[in-house]
Amino acid sequence: MTTDVRVRFAPSPTGPLHMGGVRTALFNYLFAKKHNGTFVLRIEDTDQTRYVANAEQYIIDSLNWCEIPFDEGPGKNEKFGPYRQSERKAMYKDYAFKLIEEGKAYYAFDSAEALDAQRKEHEEKGQTFSYSHHNREQLDNSLALSKEEVEAKIAAGEKYVIRFKTPADRILKLSDEIRGEISIDTNTLDDKVLFKSDGMPTYHLANIVDDHLMEITHVIRGEEWLPSLPLHFLLYEAFGWDAPKFAHLPLILKPVGKGKLSKRDGDKLGFPVFPLEYTNEVNGEISRGYKEDGYFSEAFINMLAFLGWNPGTEQELFSLEELVEAFSLERVSKAGAKFSPDKTKWFNQQYMQKKSNKELATLFIPILKEHNIEASEGFVEKVVGLIKERAVFVNDLWDLSNFFFVNPTEYDAKGVKKNWKEGTNELMTELISVIEAIEDFSSANVETIVKEWIGTKEVGFGKVMQPLRLSLVGAMKGPHLFDIIEMIGKENTVKRIQNAIQTNG
Ligand code: GLU
Repeated sequence: MTTDVRVRFAPSPTGPLHMGGVRTALFNYLFAKKHNGTFVLRIEDTDQTRYVANAEQYIIDSLNWCEIPFDEGPGKNEKFGPYRQSERKAMYKDYAFKLIEEGKAYYAFDSAEALDAQRKEHEEKGQTFSYSHHNREQLDNSLALSKEEVEAKIAAGEKYVIRFKTPADRILKLSDEIRGEISIDTNTLDDKVLFKSDGMPTYHLANIVDDHLMEITHVIRGEEWLPSLPLHFLLYEAFGWDAPKFAHLPLILKPVGKGKLSKRDGDKLGFPVFPLEYTNEVNGEISRGYKEDGYFSEAFINMLAFLGWNPGTEQELFSLEELVEAFSLERVSKAGAKFSPDKTKWFNQQYMQKKSNKELATLFIPILKEHNIEASEGFVEKVVGLIKERAVFVNDLWDLSNFFFVNPTEYDAKGVKKNWKEGTNELMTELISVIEAIEDFSSANVETIVKEWIGTKEVGFGKVMQPLRLSLVGAMKGPHLFDIIEMIGKENTVKRIQNAIQTNG
């Protein structure tokens, strides 16, 4: 019998989703789709102190923008629902009690102050306090107290947590799909809290119970959860459940290649670390998003896929379908993946070139409207076709092409100084009559005629072409000059040359 692949993305709604989180979601999505499996979204909101109200919607909006929607989750195919842990709250306690009954967990009454005092005392001796097999019987818990004492404390309403009784003296052999075998000595582990005094489970308990109940087959998550793997493994064992397979994705590193990429790096170096713009509900602070910065979601996703994975070939551009086809956990590396803002721009530029002129025109027309320019779709498509190879973002299109829509009124001073020389006025005036006489105003024909004329004048091409470019564009930039001429037409070409003579001559 084969089991259907079921994976989950399990973010905690504590703020906007970092791009590392999107990468985790993406790898889960790719793995699910590759194996015709199911991609589940589960909201891990058991930590009430860190809960942020708009974060869940932000997560869902981000997945939608990236076009990696979940198959099951809050409000969608709720076969194993609810998918918010806060709504599953009632069921976790029974699991914690079951472990107590079986002697695999225990009540701990130690107050925060008592634990702090322990920590301090250890620190003073240069040691680190850990609540574990070597000292648990000297602490305030149901392993150290009699049954009657425990019952009396509970009856008196004393607060308690439930801790896992980590088995001592075992060497665990854990396996990770990316990292291979990992050995852990259980004597190095502490007794983690499974159930808190506020009546909520901790991440560890809720996560394991839900992965089991939701029939998750593969847990694909960030490397920061690797230290939790031994505990999770022991919890599956304690409950007598089959553990899913685990894969811990490498960290995303700062552009310098050292240290985990953080929001601060983005702020400092000027790139977003979030998929969508995010407004902090408390202080109103706005964080940039890839979407609003003008990135295509396909480019963003393609870039993210390469953070820790590679196809083993030279191919760098992958559609989502191609990623699904090519993806495997075997090709995910253990080593941290360096984020590069330049490479991210490169991906966007590549996708820009892949877009049809029609698609780009649709995106560009609203920007033209903001500049009070009405132009036909056909004209905008042609313009876009001439300039897109130089554009990285849709927003670049205006800077690269405004001269197709408005006659220049100012001229680049350096360009004028260098190119508007003695004799230029006369040449340009004569060029006007040459142009006025041209019937077929196609780029190629105008080019032939103008170049023939330059030939007869016995001056270098630059003597005409440079002032002509200045006249038409206002600066020494832009695509092939005769393409511009064809696009703006004879009347405008003449007008622009006349203007330039008047201003610069
Ligand atoms: N809630 C955890 C997080 O915020 C989930 C970790 C896991 O996938 O097990 O990342």
